[in-house]
Amino acid sequence: MYASCYIAVYPFREKPGHLLVCSTKKTSVALLREETFRSIEKGTLAPADEAALLKLGIIVPDREEEKRLMLDYINGLNARNSELNMTAVLNLDCNFACTYCFEGGMKGKRYMSRETAGLLVKFIQDRFSGIKTSLSVTFYGGEPLLSLDLIVFISEALKAFAAERAAQYTFNMITNGSLFTRSVAERLIPLGLRGAKITLDGPAEVHNRCRPFKSGAGSFDAVMKNIKDTCDLVKISIGGNYQKENYARFPELLDLLESSGITPAYVSKVKFDPVAGRPDREGATVDFADGCLSLNEPWLVDASLLLREAILRKGYDVPKLRPLPCQLEVNDAYVSNFDGTLYKCPALIGIKDFEIGSLREEIKGENDSPYPGIWKNKECLECAYLPLCFGGCRYMAYVRGGNIEKVDCKRPYLDAALETIVSQDIRYRGVPVK
Ligand code: SF4
Ligand code: SF4
Repeated sequence: MYASCYIAVYPFREKPGHLLVCSTKKTSVALLREETFRSIEKGTLAPADEAALLKLGIIVPDREEEKRLMLDYINGLNARNSELNMTAVLNLDCNFACTYCFEGGMKGKRYMSRETAGLLVKFIQDRFSGIKTSLSVTFYGGEPLLSLDLIVFISEALKAFAAERAAQYTFNMITNGSLFTRSVAERLIPLGLRGAKITLDGPAEVHNRCRPFKSGAGSFDAVMKNIKDTCDLVKISIGGNYQKENYARFPELLDLLESSGITPAYVSKVKFDPVAGRPDREGATVDFADGCLSLNEPWLVDASLLLREAILRKGYDVPKLRPLPCQLEVNDAYVSNFDGTLYKCPALIGIKDFEIGSLREEIKGENDSPYPGIWKNKECLECAYLPLCFGGCRYMAYVRGGNIEKVDCKRPYLDAALETIVSQDIRYRGVPVK
């Protein structure tokens, strides 16, 4: 047996003479005595330890075979994927005037038409075949609840379609929360609503400065009221967009959530992302912030770890560390802009070169996953972080170097952050240490 290529090893300060060993492939963690770890290399592991470490992905019978299997990892995920995913940008309009969204003049009265929504339904129905057992749509904007009638229209059609096939239709929304009242939630839940991601940019004073209504009035109280009124009905996840000058105030938001009764029991996840890296061009979705964007600047690493710690310390949950390939490599996952143009990722919306087709003309070419396998090179295959990176974010590679087919290496971020992330998970989330 040999140590896996895909482990990160850290000294465990709380227990001298011990090592924390994290498998990035299985995202498992083991606390090992230093001599146990050395005995992997010497080939003298006790049989019971060998069985346990094999199961955790920390040792493997053959490192070359492990790399060969890794080459097929995403193909395997695609072959087993029983879900069809669509992100539908229903409009580029909004009732907020967020300071960062208006930069670049992206917003406007552009709405998906009923005809395009019908094509969206047909596109999804045509692709629902083979081993697929579930259909999932994420409604996006602008502000998707300004197109409530379309959410109802699309969901009624897909719910009936799924029911005829004994399949499941569910949907989520990424919303500013101001229109998500209890009566809206009650109307949408029977149609398949499972979750809403609502953005709060810190405590009232900070949020109201960043995310006012178009009238200029603060939106914090309205959003908090709606979260409070709906969190017993539907899974709410809280997002937030921080900047260098305000991230230190975001923990105050967690205190406010808790004191308002929006306790961890009612919130599925909390995740704050930097405003940096948002698309800023004609036709782009105005509220895009995704965790897969890379965080290589030192202040961003510090801010992301500080906020992750604050969230966990308060008892809220954060997205789990897990292998997460770029959507560009995942089959049966699409993004439709309001006009029916298709992409693989919301970040790429509005960039002509990255259109993969349209609801009217179908997908260009045979493969709906362009640019696969940019990480299939010697350096990445031998990198311990490969399962957490898979070549990083294609959009960031494009933004930084103008070439979407280059890796956007996460090594600087993971070198700086992974040990702390693993320690936080052990301390706050009860991640088992074997
Ligand atoms: S390009 Fe890929 S990794 Fe980057 S934001 Fe889009 S889906 Fe995520
Ligand atoms: S892009 Fe960088 S971090 Fe990612 S697998 Fe390759 S070498 Fe590792």
